[in-house]
Amino acid sequence: MDALPINEIMKINHRSINRGISHKCGHDGHMAILCGVAAELSKSKPTHGTVILLFQPAEETGFGAVKVISRLEYKPDLCYALHNLPGFSLGQVITRNGSFAGASKGMIITLTGKSSHAAQPLEGISPAPAVASLISYFNRISKLTEGIMATLIHADIGEIAFGTSPGNALLMVTLRAPTTPEMNELSQRTVQQIKNTAETEKLQYKIDWTEEFPATINAELPNSIIRRTAEQLGFKTTTPEKPFPWSEDFGHFTEKYPGALFGLGAGLHTPPLHSPDYDFPDELIPTGVEVFKGIIERSLKL
Ligand SMILES: [Zn+2]
Ligand SMILES: [Zn+2]
Repeated sequence: MDALPINEIMKINHRSINRGISHKCGHDGHMAILCGVAAELSKSKPTHGTVILLFQPAEETGFGAVKVISRLEYKPDLCYALHNLPGFSLGQVITRNGSFAGASKGMIITLTGKSSHAAQPLEGISPAPAVASLISYFNRISKLTEGIMATLIHADIGEIAFGTSPGNALLMVTLRAPTTPEMNELSQRTVQQIKNTAETEKLQYKIDWTEEFPATINAELPNSIIRRTAEQLGFKTTTPEKPFPWSEDFGHFTEKYPGALFGLGAGLHTPPLHSPDYDFPDELIPTGVEVFKGIIERSLKL
């Protein structure tokens, strides 16, 4: 589930048999944890309440959560999720009240001018100066405030034709902010910058949005349930000072329902998520099952 377009480079028995595709975020591990929770729940069924286990795909693009939420037949009182986190000691439970992971969204900017003979560039309208100015804006804004980022991921100007000055350009940028209001402000500011730049350079512009993730905002009650459960089970807990800069599709859930996401340390020296040598540490499976089981018990007692 949710394999990534990354070629696995390790020689492990369970390596991907599909070239160029592998499980590099640990969703195979997360699903195994949920299967373990299902097995535990079937052994001792809760006497009251309803527990829904969501095997939700398409976390990586952010489209899965939205679709699953639109089809949910129940309105959950509380919702929980976990993600393994390399760089934290194995089995450590990472919780944070309020913003846990930031908001992000993809911005696709199309600039249209007019191509011309490369010998007469002034006869056309090249988007190159606007591209240069926007790239420097993205860099500038990313240095201004901690947690606010506009990361250029792709740029394309004109054609590979030495006789032609370009008439169009495409820029793709990922915007990030720790909270949804800050994201809205960053988006508005960036749209205004593009509008001004396009007007100055006499270009037409179009903006499309994709892969939108709201910030994952942990509610106080479910977050404290996670922390107390972990402590009671004897797992080490930690709270990062700042929200994580990446985003999680679980933000779509916390936007609608009280919920909390927590991290499970995947080991201090485990390669980072999405790297070709990452492998989900299977030792985490019983830990995840135990924590989830404890959270369910505690939540049903409320
Ligand atoms: Zn991922
Ligand atoms: Zn992931």
